[in-house]
Amino acid sequence: MEKVQLIGADLATLQELMSTLKEPPFRAKQIMQWIYHRGRFDFQQMGNLPKTLRDKLDEAASIELPRVAARRISRDGTHKYLLQLEDGATIEAVFIPEGNRRTLCVSSQVGCPMDCRFCATGTQGFRRNLTVGEMVGQVLAVQRDSKEKITNIVLMGMGEPLANYEQVMGAIRLWNDPLGLEIAARRLTVSTCGLVPGIKRLSREGLQVVLAVSLHAPNDELRNQIMPINRRYNLAQLMKACREYVETTNRRITFEYALMRDFNDSPEHARQLAQLVKGILCHVNLIPLNPVAAHGWASSTKEQVLLFQKELAKHNIEATIRAERGADIEAACGQLKSRLGGKEGGNEHSG
Ligand code: SAH
Repeated sequence: MEKVQLIGADLATLQELMSTLKEPPFRAKQIMQWIYHRGRFDFQQMGNLPKTLRDKLDEAASIELPRVAARRISRDGTHKYLLQLEDGATIEAVFIPEGNRRTLCVSSQVGCPMDCRFCATGTQGFRRNLTVGEMVGQVLAVQRDSKEKITNIVLMGMGEPLANYEQVMGAIRLWNDPLGLEIAARRLTVSTCGLVPGIKRLSREGLQVVLAVSLHAPNDELRNQIMPINRRYNLAQLMKACREYVETTNRRITFEYALMRDFNDSPEHARQLAQLVKGILCHVNLIPLNPVAAHGWASSTKEQVLLFQKELAKHNIEATIRAERGADIEAACGQLKSRLGGKEGGNEHSG
């Protein structure tokens, strides 16, 4: 009999399993508490379950976490993980400590189909969607390895979350669930390259999650050059969806804008960006591009970034320059995996 993988299962599913095993439903809650609150992944250690149930669980169920294939720790405290899944596929997760926050950047797909020109994951192609258990498992695996409790999650690792909509919603529910990881929805961020139907759907979920939209260009001409998705949903359609999102949810949108030298970083581009987001309840994050060797894009100079921010401010657009984290360990999306290629593990271990 195929064992049921418990990571990713919700209360109803576990209660069904209890009924199959002829156990009372309240055991399902106890099992969730062991897994998500106490981080125990061995049935025999679940002390308040009767021995007979522990043995039945060993027979019928399993708890599989992604395996830490490589870990690199940056001078600034950022941990970059390469995690291996059951089928051998590898994904990345980045742990970012900052004040009281312990943020984990989680992957939603193996590879990515969106093919953004500046992104290291884009070049690796798309393999498959991640399951709820694989997304939730990234958090549990990193908590176990780092011995830290994750407080915030951003779906900014490999993949396009809104292209794996159902599974991502399932993961969000478990991260948020009081019997799960118990992380407030407003500490969960969904980042998208601009899948308009997904944004519309998300606006109707009644969730308090944060929506981040990767803009990276202030007009269609430039955006077409770096983000193929813009040929499917152009800026007019995207911005309309964003306006409607804010109207429906009353939630502020975060716009991500990676500054690329001599491409999208002039004061004129800042003026165009200000025009584009005008009237939308939002915040702009300016990110100096993390250069990916093969792609040829360079990041803007410090002065250029400051000029850009100043120009936005003149137009009453508040923008934060996001501190670069983990540059010394290639923490940009997809970089570690690109670098390690097929021989991950090996000498890249740092702990
Ligand atoms: N697919 C989603 C989430 C994954 S990428 C999205 O597009 O939003 C998370 C963020 O990192 C996105 O804003 C993405 O555009 C950005 N990003 C990718 N490669 C980057 C690089 N080399 N430097 C800076 N930001 C990058």
